[in-house]
Amino acid sequence: MALFGTKKAVLAAATAALALALSACGGGGGGTASPVASPTFAAGSTMDTLAKAGTIKIGTKFDQPLFGQKGLDGKPVGFDVEIGKAIAAKLGISADKIEWVETVSANREAFIEQSRVDIVVATYTINDARKQKVDFAGPYYEAGQALMVNKDNTTITKPEDVTGKKVCSVTGSTPAKTIVEQYGAELVPAATYSACLEPLRNKQVEAITTDNVILAGFVDKEPDAFKLASEETFTKEPYGIGLKKGDTTFRNWINDQLEAFELDGTYKKAWEGTAGKVIKTVPELPKIDRY
Ligand code: GLU
Repeated sequence: MALFGTKKAVLAAATAALALALSACGGGGGGTASPVASPTFAAGSTMDTLAKAGTIKIGTKFDQPLFGQKGLDGKPVGFDVEIGKAIAAKLGISADKIEWVETVSANREAFIEQSRVDIVVATYTINDARKQKVDFAGPYYEAGQALMVNKDNTTITKPEDVTGKKVCSVTGSTPAKTIVEQYGAELVPAATYSACLEPLRNKQVEAITTDNVILAGFVDKEPDAFKLASEETFTKEPYGIGLKKGDTTFRNWINDQLEAFELDGTYKKAWEGTAGKVIKTVPELPKIDRY
């Protein structure tokens, strides 16, 4: 067999390599791998249905820098978005065929139950209460609850400091519950975290509480206005991918993909292209909870 083919074959190979390189660059953000060509799945599985439909509805946040934020072109960007794109790619679905649906903290379970989304990738903490209604693949990241205050604040450094004080957080989120039930704060509820920013700036609340990585995104945007009360977190918030309760085949398959993303560099790339611009340490994929 000839080691080097004809000129034509060499040219064809070079063109193919270029096409591959170009497609690998597509998708923006963290540089998600291109979609698998015609993947096959067990007939009737959710993977099969989605792959055949050629589209997937993914619920994510639209107002959280680093994890899920809608850009000028109307498309969300962030680590969650990249994880969503990487899963879609394994179903043979390219990024431009994904239907992004805004999910806020309070409607994620309902959107899954009502099939308004196929999956949710939205800073979504796995917990038993939510598992009554939906299932979770993952975790694919572990965040922790923190407090954000105005830059000039000197009195709040730990959650005990907000007992009896007004704190903004989001309805239906785990941090809103924790700050009231465990630390006795007076909750000023909002529908999204970005809706807490003006109340904090105007000193209508003393702090905003949610996951450290969400707050880090807001501090990064406005370092002269806000700061984290402390680098320390006071809860564990393992992020899962929400899906229909009982769809164990789909859950197992997503878990397999998450493990593959860690091994093939997709996970690292997704991080570096998004949250990693601010949070430099690339996280390790937490141990997948195959419950
Ligand atoms: N991870 C927490 C939760 O799922 C807070 C972030 C959020 O509200 O999305 O409730």
